[in-house]
Amino acid sequence: MKRSTVFLLLGSLCASVLAAKGKQQKLSPDDIGHSDPGKGVNFYSIEKEIALGKQLAAEVERQAKIVDDPEVAEYINRLGQNLAHNSDAQVPFTCKVIDSTEVNAFALPGGYLFVNTGLILRAGDEAELAGVMAHEIAHVAARHGTKQATRGQLANLASIPLIFLGGWAGYGIQEAASVAVPMGFLKFSRGMEQQADTLGLEYMYKAGYDPTAFVDFFERIETLEKKKPGAVAKVFSTHPPTEDRVRHTQSEIQQLAPLPEYVLDTSEFHQVRDRLAMLLRERKGDIKDDNRPTLLRRTPRGTDTNGDDSKDDERPTLKRRQ
Ligand code: ZN
Repeated sequence: MKRSTVFLLLGSLCASVLAAKGKQQKLSPDDIGHSDPGKGVNFYSIEKEIALGKQLAAEVERQAKIVDDPEVAEYINRLGQNLAHNSDAQVPFTCKVIDSTEVNAFALPGGYLFVNTGLILRAGDEAELAGVMAHEIAHVAARHGTKQATRGQLANLASIPLIFLGGWAGYGIQEAASVAVPMGFLKFSRGMEQQADTLGLEYMYKAGYDPTAFVDFFERIETLEKKKPGAVAKVFSTHPPTEDRVRHTQSEIQQLAPLPEYVLDTSEFHQVRDRLAMLLRERKGDIKDDNRPTLLRRTPRGTDTNGDDSKDDERPTLKRRQ
């Protein structure tokens, strides 16, 4: 342990003594974002961690299809930046969208967050999406990737292109359709997942979202999965949100002082989601082997859900939220 870590350690100690334990006092948004969940044994300096993440992210981008549509990319990046800004993370974030129908998101050490199109399409509103992204940001803030590496896998680091799984339900990139990065690393420990759940709820809450949306998303996916086993997210069924996890999440929500109002949703989210569905549908006309017919259903070809009068099918008018 070194340098300014001591300060941060003290800070987070105070915060946790005040907040979590014993006291009935609930957390308010001002209490959040000033602690250092990344403290603890770690052989990586922040700088090294960022460099590692950058390298891994480059590998991901080489292998995955990154959605470069400016509207979609900009929106997701902005959403991620806002959540990161409300977190404890000490690294700058980069948020990109991977063209994959698997419902997933993951974060690499050092602040490289990837969100699958499947996740955006399956989220019911912006708060649900934010909840999953906040969970991933929490993994970064708590430096789970490099801590895990420090714990036992250090020898492997040099030889294997590692991917630190940040799959919010504990599943990972190797299962995300279009990516096949060799994986030398495992999922995070249960304790880490639980910490990411706790912190993620705090971050989304501080950013103004109703934390219960995180649980709503579990339920939504579970329902979809029951209706069409395997169709929504086959990986979800192998890493379900256990009762334990849901219970923990709900009790953590109780630790947060209710706010008079939350950002439940934005129209921008729906515009981006619709646009994404349209882009995928259009592309699908060219690509035969893509499988998820469910994607087609949301916005059938030619359907103008916005009611706008755009002459050009490819460029719907996207209205900005004020
Ligand atoms: Zn996780």
